[in-house]
Amino acid sequence: MIPVNEMFETIQGEATHTGRPSVFIRLQGCPVGCPWCDTKYTWELDQGWVIDPGVMLTKNRLAADKSWAPMSEDLILELLDKYRARHVVLTGGEPAMENLIDLTSLVIASGRSIQIETSGTFPVQCDIGTWVTVSPKLAMPGNLAVRNDVLARADEIKFPVGKESDIRALHDLIGRGCIHPNTPIWLQPLSLNRRATDLCRDNAIANNWRVSVQVHALAGWR
Ligand code: SF4
Repeated sequence: MIPVNEMFETIQGEATHTGRPSVFIRLQGCPVGCPWCDTKYTWELDQGWVIDPGVMLTKNRLAADKSWAPMSEDLILELLDKYRARHVVLTGGEPAMENLIDLTSLVIASGRSIQIETSGTFPVQCDIGTWVTVSPKLAMPGNLAVRNDVLARADEIKFPVGKESDIRALHDLIGRGCIHPNTPIWLQPLSLNRRATDLCRDNAIANNWRVSVQVHALAGWR
């Protein structure tokens, strides 16, 4: 069973798949503890918040809601038929806490594409055809290390940047030698303030990296 907090259809606003109509499936549970996390309601996997899958699908999804529903892979696939988008994004929370091999295989077999957004702190268990976006969360309060095997599996790196020391941390991460040289590295300003966006622009140019601003935030979409 997969712990699902919400499912919704929108446009992917970040990195390589920017602009793609996508069904986002937000999973419950994350022990990483990023202070600036905008989905803190997904952190706890407490049995007290378990609800019926039918209730999860009708609740007001704009309200930050700790409730979640355990769903089978077959039920999730059935629910995907209610949406038009053919790209699926597993996000969180930390989706890699779950074994996603069956779900990602089923989604791919249905003719859709699927992407996982992960912090890199858990082994990624998924179908080989899955697009893996690693957004490494370093030195967070949860004290979880970013794994070298996940960096090596990444189809793209999406790195949150707010200050100069974040760029140094990214260079250190690349220095581990696990990220494939052809893997695109996206810098994502932590906010759209001038300092963070300029830092991303300057370092993208200097290192042949890329810049990902959150298009959905600019457009006022969720
Ligand atoms: S890894 Fe993602 S969900 Fe978890 S605390 Fe950090 S930003 Fe929030």
